[in-house]
Formats: sequence, C-alpha cells, structure tokens
Amino acid sequence: MGTVTASQPAEPADPTGRAGPFGPGTAPAALTAAVALPPRAERAARAEEAADRLRTAAVDAVAVTWVDNAGITRVKAVPLGGLVHAAEWGVGTSPCFDVFLADDSITTSPVIGGPTGDLRLYPDLDRLVPLAAQPGWAWAPGDRHTQAGGPHPGCQRLFARRMEAAVAAAGLSVKAGIEVEWVVALAGAPNEPPQYPTHGPAYGMHRLTDLSDYLRDVLRALGEQGLGVLQIHPEYAPGQFEVSVAPEGPVGAADTSVLVRQTVRAVSARYGLRASFAPVVEPDAVGNGGHLHLSLWRDGRNLGHDGPGPHGLTAEAEGFLAGVLRALPELLVLGCSSPAGYLRLVPSHWAGAYQCWGLENREAALRLITGSTGERAAAANAEVKCFDASANPYLAVGGVLAAGLAGLEQRHPLPPEFTGDPAAAEPGTVPRLPQTPTEAIAAYERSAVLREALGEPLHQAVLAVRRAEAEQYAAVGPEELVAATRWRY
Ligand code: GLU
Ligand code: MG
Repeated sequence: MGTVTASQPAEPADPTGRAGPFGPGTAPAALTAAVALPPRAERAARAEEAADRLRTAAVDAVAVTWVDNAGITRVKAVPLGGLVHAAEWGVGTSPCFDVFLADDSITTSPVIGGPTGDLRLYPDLDRLVPLAAQPGWAWAPGDRHTQAGGPHPGCQRLFARRMEAAVAAAGLSVKAGIEVEWVVALAGAPNEPPQYPTHGPAYGMHRLTDLSDYLRDVLRALGEQGLGVLQIHPEYAPGQFEVSVAPEGPVGAADTSVLVRQTVRAVSARYGLRASFAPVVEPDAVGNGGHLHLSLWRDGRNLGHDGPGPHGLTAEAEGFLAGVLRALPELLVLGCSSPAGYLRLVPSHWAGAYQCWGLENREAALRLITGSTGERAAAANAEVKCFDASANPYLAVGGVLAAGLAGLEQRHPLPPEFTGDPAAAEPGTVPRLPQTPTEAIAAYERSAVLREALGEPLHQAVLAVRRAEAEQYAAVGPEELVAATRWRY
C-alpha cells in the first residue's frame, strides 16, 4: 500500500482499544501505514490501467470478497465499468456482516452490530486477477474502511496486514502457505447425504483417474491465475482432495487460500459437482484441514535452520514457535470457526488434536518440518495442523503472527518435543487442545495477546459470533451439526 496524504482523514482512535504494540489506538507509524489506503488519485489511475487490461481479457465484472468472522467468504461485485469508482470510493457494505453467523442469522456485539452504518469495501488492485474458471469474471480481495476513510477496526484483512507490519517492524518476515483440503460430491440436493463422483481408495490413483479432467482443470485454472501449485492429491476421506501452493507473505497466503477455494468451487460447478470445505463432511470421517505452514526469516535467512536450538531452530524461531504453541487453545477460536471443527479435531485423524510439537509428527498440533538434507535452508518450516478450512484465513494468520511475536519477546524455549503418537501415551501426558467451542472461547477471553492484537471491536465481534454459534449447536448431535454445516463453507 502507498503512503497517506495529508488530505486523508486520520485513522479514528479506537474508543475501547488497549494500549500496546498491536492495538489500533496506539499503533506505531509502520502499523498505521500498513492499513492506510493509497491516495485516491493513485487508486483511480491504477484501476483505469487494470480495467483496460481486464477489458482485453473479456472480463465483464469484478467480484470483491471479504471473509466474515464465521469464515464465510462474502462478496459484492461491480461491472467492469464500475471498477474505477470502486477503487476511488469503495463499495458499500454493512458492518453487520461482522456479526453474521455461518447460517446467515445475525447476532450483535458491544461495538459492532445492528442495522445502521455503512462501510466501504476497497478492492486490492495488487491481487486483482481474471478468474480462469469463471469466464467474464475477475476477483480481488477487499479491505474495509469507514466512510471517513479510516480503517474499519473490524476488518479482518487489515488486522492481518497490521500483524504482517508488526513482524516487519521487528526486522523479520514470515513466509506462509495454507493447505486447502476439500471433499467433492455430486451436486444433489443440499440436504441429501453426499454422493461421491469417485469411490477410489485414499491417496489412490483410481481417484485421479475418475476425476482426471476435473483435477487438470483445477490445476490449469490455478496456474492461469498466477498461483504456483506445489502438489495436488487425493486425500484420506471419501471424495477428498488437497492442493498446496507456494509460500508467500501472510496476507498474500490468506488471499491465496480464498482464491484457491473459489477456483475449486467454480471448477466443481462446471463439472456438475459441489465442493465442501467444511471441517467435517461425514460424521466420524477424517475432516478438511486448513493447515498453516510458516517460516520466519531475517535478512534473507530462514531462522528455522542452522540454529543452536532443537532441529536447527534459532533462538528467535524457537521463541516464536513457543509463543504459537502456548496460544493454540485460544488460537482455535480464529483457526477453527465452525463448531463442527471440534468433530474434526480428534486423535488419530492427523488433525493435530494435541497441544504439543514434534518433528514430522502428524498428530502434533505443531509439526516441525526441516526438509531434506540439502534443501533445509529454504524448506524448514512449521505447520499448524489444528486449523480447519472454516477459518477466516486473515484471522488465522494474524492471530498466529501475534502469538509468535509475543513468544519472540518472551524468548521462552519450546517444551520438550513429543515423538510418537500422543494417543498412545500415558493419559494426561500430552494435553489435548480444547474439545468444545466453549473451552476455546474461554481461552480466547483470557488471552491478553489476542485481545490487544485484534483490538477490542474485532475481538468482541469474533467472540459474539463464536458464542452465538456455540449456543446454536450446543444441544445438537454430530449428524445434525455436520448436516447443518456441510455446504456452508
Ligand atoms: N485431513 C486431515 C485434517 O483434517 C489432514 C491430513 C494431512 O495430514 O494432510 O487435518
Ligand atoms: Mg492433507
């Protein structure tokens, strides 16, 4: 983003924000700049250029998305002729979306909620791209600002931007990537149990054969949109697949996860199929994860490599990961939006149900990956496995950065590594992560780090949504919960 001009209104003070390094009310200049809109004339000029390019690519309309606190990607679209205006003045969106639940009912929160008010959704022209599987359409993620021009304190993407800037202010950078798992089914009636277009075995070549054209089109579309696909493969659950893409900056990685899911959704629709990114699609089956990979860098050096700590971690990387590991119970509120996520987060599902870390341990919530001998300087990273695909990716990455930075400051070492299967250990040896939304919510309410990083309005809005959904499904059995959430994400 560009610099702020004197003519732009200053960022409004956060009426309830706490003092601290992250809070919008006390943000140092670098954090404020990270969420400021570039000057209007610059936005208009860039949008004009972009519109010319899109016209040549036969684009008619631009979808501008944001992800709400329930993890749903919502959209406002403008015809191509309206792109310049949208870049100059934003597109109107109600702040009440911040308290929408996944089933579209609406709650309220102390700062945000209610029918009044309006926000402006600004397409990020840096990520504007024609949608390969939706001819005539382009997409851009949006940032939400107030009508006065200041950042909306409830904007999840601006929160992620602020956290990325806080990492940069510490002289560091993070590379991140979010794995996308999905289940593909025949597009029948939404209330019917899913019928799968392939019955091939987990990770089996049968599945790739049955859906050969479909998977090729997913790959093609992702590639045409400029995404570097690392891998695509059939996963464990019926009809389940996974795609992973190249790491990038944290906000970029969150944007990419929105784009990847939209691409899978659109290719599926072209084949008469329907994709589900819900945490669980069949009760008891393995679910859809939204694992977050991250590595910490300083001056071009991967801090997860060649250090004196466990498996080559430097002290900085160790402190960062210790902060993340410690905060996982409260981070679940950001990384697992849906109450159905707790049906996924169970032992022996490779979902990372235990609050421990381990080298290449797929049952640990924090899996350390060093990479192969020879490529470690580039490949070493850590994977937060407990997050699922119902997460708002901006909240998930922003929360992890905040927890990591807090850990970095405290420089605590990691607890001892856990090797092997935590489910086979003496009961009580390895702590389980929260097993209900209510437990995670309680940890989130206690977390000063997240409260400060999110700022009071966003912290409260997320809390209101989680509480409302937890209540909604408190007395509901797994079958009903899965049926209610299967086609929402
Ligand atoms: N599907 C599993 C999950 O729910 C993850 C499988 C894997 O390790 O890729 O997280
Ligand atoms: Mg997987």
